[in-house]
Amino acid sequence: MTLVYQSTRDTNNKVTASQAILQGLATDGGLFTPISLPEVNLDFNQLKDASYQEVAKIVLSAFLDDFTEEELDYCITNAYDSKFDTPAIASLVDLTGQYNLELFHGSTIAFKDMALSILPYLMTTSAKKQGVDNKIVILTATSGDTGKAAMAGFADVPGTEIIVFYPKDGVSKIQELQMTTQTGANTHVIAIDGNFDDAQTNVKAMFNDEALRVKLLAQKTQFSSANSMNIGRLVPQVVYYVYAYAQLIKSGAIQNGDQVNFTVPTGNFGNILAAYYASQIGVPVGKLICASNENNVLTDFFNTGVYDKKREFKVTTSPSMDILVSSNLERLIFHLLGNDAEATKSLMEALVETGEYKLQAVRPEILELFDAGYATEEETAAEINRVYKADNYIEDPHTAVASAVYTAYKAKTGDQRPTVIASTASPYKFPRVAVEAVTGKDSGDDFKAVQELHDLSGVAIPKAVDGLETAEVRHKTVVAVAQMQDAVEKYLGV
Ligand SMILES: *Cc1c(COP(=O)(O)O)cnc(C)c1O
Repeated sequence: MTLVYQSTRDTNNKVTASQAILQGLATDGGLFTPISLPEVNLDFNQLKDASYQEVAKIVLSAFLDDFTEEELDYCITNAYDSKFDTPAIASLVDLTGQYNLELFHGSTIAFKDMALSILPYLMTTSAKKQGVDNKIVILTATSGDTGKAAMAGFADVPGTEIIVFYPKDGVSKIQELQMTTQTGANTHVIAIDGNFDDAQTNVKAMFNDEALRVKLLAQKTQFSSANSMNIGRLVPQVVYYVYAYAQLIKSGAIQNGDQVNFTVPTGNFGNILAAYYASQIGVPVGKLICASNENNVLTDFFNTGVYDKKREFKVTTSPSMDILVSSNLERLIFHLLGNDAEATKSLMEALVETGEYKLQAVRPEILELFDAGYATEEETAAEINRVYKADNYIEDPHTAVASAVYTAYKAKTGDQRPTVIASTASPYKFPRVAVEAVTGKDSGDDFKAVQELHDLSGVAIPKAVDGLETAEVRHKTVVAVAQMQDAVEKYLGV
C-alpha cells in the first residue's frame, strides 16, 4: 500500500511521498499531508537499544513508503554522520524536573539540521525516482535557522540552486553571519526590509505564480521548498520523538507504555506537528505543550479556537519563533476538520481576507492532546537563570521559552508525567542573550559573549561559531519586500 499525500486545499490533488518532497508545496496553495497513518509497529523493547539511524530507518520507511530500502539507507547514512558532534545525534539530558532533548548537535547548531541534513538526499533521490532532470531551485524564507541549515545541506549539490530570504533586522548577529558567510557557488542570500511573515508570504506567492512556473520550466528549472511546509522536512522530525521515548525507557526513567509530555518551542508549527505524528504512530503521549514567545497567536488559538493574526509583530530574543502565520498549523486544522479540504481552504482564505478564522473542530479529541502557553521576554531570561542555578546548564532563549512554559504548566496542572523539552538551539547561537540572563550583564559584543558563555558553562565552543568573526562576508544584497521576485528572476536569468 502506498501512503497518499493530499493537498490540504484540494481533494483531487494527491501525490506519493517522493512527489510531495520534490514539489515542496501544492500549487493550489495547500500543503501535502498524509490522509491516513502509515503502518508501523513501534516495538520499544527493541527500539530502546537502536541507534538514531536505525530508528530513522523505521520511521522514514513508514512515511516515505515509495522509497526503496537502498534509497533510504543511502539518505540516512549520508545525513546522520560525523557532521553531528555526538554519535547519539540527539542527546537527552536529565535536568531537575525535565529532560532536555538536544537537537542542536548538527553543523549549524539548531534543530533545523535534524531534517535539513537529510532533505537534499531525499530531494535528489525523489527527482531521480520521478525521472525529473530539471534544475531544482530551493526557495526559502527563514526566521534565522532554516536558511543556514538549508544552505549547509544544499551547498554545491549538483543540479540544485538555493535562494534564502531573511528579515534584515529579525535575526541574531551570529545567525546573520552564519548565512552571509555561506560558501558554495549555488547559494544566494538576500536580506529583506520586512519581517519573516513578509518573507514567507512572498515565497509562497512565487510558488503559486503560474506564469513564473511556466517561464522556469521553459529553461528546465523548477522550485522546491526547504521550509517545514515540505513533508521532507517534517517526516525526519518525527524520528527524534520516537528516539527520545526509547531513550527514556533505556535510562529507566519510564516503563514501556508510560505517557510522556513534549514541550516544543513553536514558530511555524513544524516541530510540534512532527510530535503529533509521533503520537499518532504509537509514541505514548500525555500532552503536547505548544510554547510561544510574545508572538502568542498560537496560545490564543488553542485557548479560544480563534486564530487572529491581527496583532503587533514583536521582535524578541527568540527570533526563530517570531511568526504570526504558522504555516504548518494548516495541516493540523485539516486533520481537526476530518481531512476536509474544502473547509480547510475556506478558513485559510478567511485568514488572508479578514486576518482571522474561528475553528469548529469535528475531531475535538485531537485538540485535547494539546496545551499551550507563552513566555514573556522577562520570563524567558528568568528561566535561563533558573536552569543555570539548578543544573549549571545554559539553555538558549528558544529552549528557555519552552522550559518556562512547561514550568508554569506543571505548577498550574500538577501534571507529574515525565516531560521532554525540545531544545532547539545551542546557546552559542544567541550568546549575548544567554550570558546576560545568567550574569545580569550585557557582553556588548557577540564574540566576547561566546567566550564568556564558554567560561560559564564549560561547554566546548562549536565549530559553527569558531572562526565566524573573521570569515569573509559573501552575501550583501538587501531588497524591499516588493522586490523579492525581481531578485529571484535576476539570479535565475528569467
Ligand atoms: C525554527 C525554530 C523554532 C520553531 O520551530 P517550528 O518548527 O517553526 O515551530 C524554534 N526554535 C529554533 C531555534 C528554531 O530554529
